[in-house]
Amino acid sequence: MKTILITGGTGFLGSNLAIRLIKEGNRVIVVDNNYTGNMENIAEIADNPNFKFINHDICAPLKIGEPIDQIYNAACPASPPAYQGKHSITTTKTCVFGAINMLELAKEKGARILQFSTSEVYGEPLVHPQVETYRGNVNPIGIRACYDEGKRAAESLFFDYHRHEGVDIKVIRIFNTYGDKMDPKDGRVVSNFICQALRGEDITIYGDGKQTRSFCYVSDLIEVITRMMNSEAGFTGPVNCGNPGEFTMLELAQMVVDKVGGPSKLVFKPLPSDDPTQRRPDITLAKTKLGWEPKVKLSEGLDKTIAYFRTKVQEKQR
Ligand code: UDP
Repeated sequence: MKTILITGGTGFLGSNLAIRLIKEGNRVIVVDNNYTGNMENIAEIADNPNFKFINHDICAPLKIGEPIDQIYNAACPASPPAYQGKHSITTTKTCVFGAINMLELAKEKGARILQFSTSEVYGEPLVHPQVETYRGNVNPIGIRACYDEGKRAAESLFFDYHRHEGVDIKVIRIFNTYGDKMDPKDGRVVSNFICQALRGEDITIYGDGKQTRSFCYVSDLIEVITRMMNSEAGFTGPVNCGNPGEFTMLELAQMVVDKVGGPSKLVFKPLPSDDPTQRRPDITLAKTKLGWEPKVKLSEGLDKTIAYFRTKVQEKQR
């Protein structure tokens, strides 16, 4: 049994990870301030004797009495509408102070630490598909910069703590992910389209809808995250984690409307600034070093996600 700490453990990815690690028989400590997370996401493990929740903002240092084997640093607002508005400064702080505080904790405990980095480090990519060696094209003063530059600074901190302090680090770059435990109000494209279709509302396409994204179902992502954490010593990454199937937002909208049915029409809204035109991971490194590739196709993952959001939308209507 390992003792594993997850920051951001009441959020979408963190809670899916916490549930899996509890089921595998580990002791799991979730640290979150529920800024964008939700206690409902961890309700099914809250009473497990191996589970502990700590309400804490990782912008402040964290003291833990017991030994810790592994830390997953997942805490950060991750939805563009969440980080582009009044939460932008909090987002940079969480990325930077959070990384420093968790790296200090890892150093003190001799724990291995894995950073949830992002495809956003590539910004508006001029290399397609994106390989880990590509250094990206980020606008440092744009509305996405708090997240993109925050995550880039966190990667830099991870590698400096590894080089100078000997901390055992792993870095993954997560591409668009969807599935159970996404917040219906999150504002990202999959949750928006599905909830709009379920409510019979119009589907909001930003821009002309020809921009592309590659969507990974959450169970595939959690699998590669745990493989990376438990990979051979010295293999730091960064490793791209995502599904290389690439779709335009128009294609995604059509798939959702076809599956859900109902009266929804596509309506066009302005494209937010710096919204990347295309995105697709090259996952050769994850395949060769971790023996991983995604199994769940978009159509199948959407069916599962529609079923999940159907219960959420019905709960709200009751
Ligand atoms: N998008 C859209 N309609 C929505 C929400 C998002 O067309 O209701 C677009 C958004 O402009 C972007 C893509 O969908 O081009 C993915 O957006 P999301 O916020 O899910 O993630 P991102 O990859 O931009 O971080």
